[in-house]
Amino acid sequence: MGKSSAGVYIHIPFCRRKCVYCDFHSVPGRETVIGDYVDSVIGEIRENAGLLKGKEVVSLFFGGGTPSLLEPRHVGRILDACARYFHCASSMEISIEANPESVTVPRFRGYKKAGVNRVSVGIQSLDDDSLALLGRIHTADKARRSVDVIFNTGFANVSADLMFALPGQSLDKWITQLEEVVTWNLVHLSCYELTVGPSTRLAGMVSSGEITPRGDNLEFFKATEKTLGKHGFSHYEISNYAIPGGECVHNLGYWLYRDYLGVGAGAHSKISSRRWANVKSIGGYMTRIAKSGKAVYRSETLLPETTRYEKLMLGLRLKDGVLERDISPSPELDALVSEGWLKRSSGKIRASDRHWPLLNSVLERL
Ligand code: SF4
Repeated sequence: MGKSSAGVYIHIPFCRRKCVYCDFHSVPGRETVIGDYVDSVIGEIRENAGLLKGKEVVSLFFGGGTPSLLEPRHVGRILDACARYFHCASSMEISIEANPESVTVPRFRGYKKAGVNRVSVGIQSLDDDSLALLGRIHTADKARRSVDVIFNTGFANVSADLMFALPGQSLDKWITQLEEVVTWNLVHLSCYELTVGPSTRLAGMVSSGEITPRGDNLEFFKATEKTLGKHGFSHYEISNYAIPGGECVHNLGYWLYRDYLGVGAGAHSKISSRRWANVKSIGGYMTRIAKSGKAVYRSETLLPETTRYEKLMLGLRLKDGVLERDISPSPELDALVSEGWLKRSSGKIRASDRHWPLLNSVLERL
């Protein structure tokens, strides 16, 4: 990946229902405006194409929300606009996030025809009680069928998201789920522990005592690495596993501090030393794009020391770590190395195997 490469992120903030743990920018019940929203996204791409001048776009990611609520013609129009206004690599990774309830044969055939070449499907769990507790719309069987549809419509680069350490979930049940999922021929898995965001419905359920978060997440982390490792998945980022070559190009770009242009309501961008965020409100976003082609409400210039610090924070999420020449030396860093929390080798610095699962404690000291 050269220095002048970049990623494009398209935010699709629509969902059929809000999951209880969700702290993403997603809004239920607004699907009727999707067509107009797509017009705004295309308007934003057109008006801001100059920001990626001289850069090659190596990845494009439809994230959400639930991007699989888009019709294939919506995806096709957005991809046509990208091809017209950006310099896209011929091998560009084009990912779409999907939720099982909106996966259908015609829709995924259409996505394939439009140029999408990677799908990330939000399975989360193969236990119906856990899915109901999380507020997910789909059942475990629907999730299994959706993966079949995705493969049968011609996709090979397929990833699934799963959540562990759910209330009432035993370690054995989690491992059984992983053992099933590895038989599906996926090339990538994202395994996240359930976290309780402050402004989520889940936070209210925890404070009212309706559910109790687990405290043994480290065991889940280790069991995940061991189980997936046996089936050829390499643990390349703290929450992500891939069959070699199946790593997500787009998300690797964030951890490697590559430039990205975010398009859509609430999308964030970072290009060179500038970072900004769009307004979150869907209506506000569409109005601003119609008026000026821009919807930025907050921007900042990144100082060199901020950049070096963020490169360290993000790079330590990767198994391979971060290039030492990209970060600032510090006594705290040296102390973490001498105490065995971090390792230095081949010009890189990375978390030790034992301390990688405890990355947050490492980061707190930097
Ligand atoms: S599907 Fe994803 S984005 Fe939508 S509400 Fe659920 S967690 Fe949030």
